[in-house]
Amino acid sequence: MSRQRLRRSLGYLWAAPCSLPGLLLAALLLSCGGRAQWQQGVLEVALPPWRWLRRLPFAAITLGHVILGLDLATLAALRAHEQVHVRQFRRWGVLLLLAYPAASLWQWLRGRRPYWDNPFEVQARRLSGTPPEPRQPADE
Ligand SMILES: [Zn+2]
Repeated sequence: MSRQRLRRSLGYLWAAPCSLPGLLLAALLLSCGGRAQWQQGVLEVALPPWRWLRRLPFAAITLGHVILGLDLATLAALRAHEQVHVRQFRRWGVLLLLAYPAASLWQWLRGRRPYWDNPFEVQARRLSGTPPEPRQPADE
C-alpha cells in the first residue's frame, strides 16, 4: 500500500465516527426519495424534494465523508466549501464535533457571529473561494 493510500485510508478511519451518523441519515434520506452520488471520495446526498426541507437553516452540511445538501445543484455549488469541511474532519476526527460548536460558542461569547466568525467556516470560505460573509449590519 502506498503511503498516500495509507494516509487516505487512515483519514476515512479517523473520520468514521462522524461519517457513520451521516451514513445513517443518508440511508434514511435515500429511502425517502433522496439521491446520492460519489464525488471526490465523498458520498453526497441530495435531500428528497420536500418543500419543508427548504426551510432548514443550511443548504448543505458535512458529517465526516458524507455531505447532505438540499439538491444536486446545491451540492455542486457548495462542493469546494464542503470539501474543506471534509478535510477538517480528516484532521480533527470526532473532536471536530466538539471543536466546531465550541468555536461558535467562543465567538458568540465574544459578541461575534457564531457561524460566520467560526474559524472552521472562515477557513472553509477562504480555501474554497465560496462567497464571503453577508454584509454586516451597520454599526450602531
Ligand atoms: Zn461551512
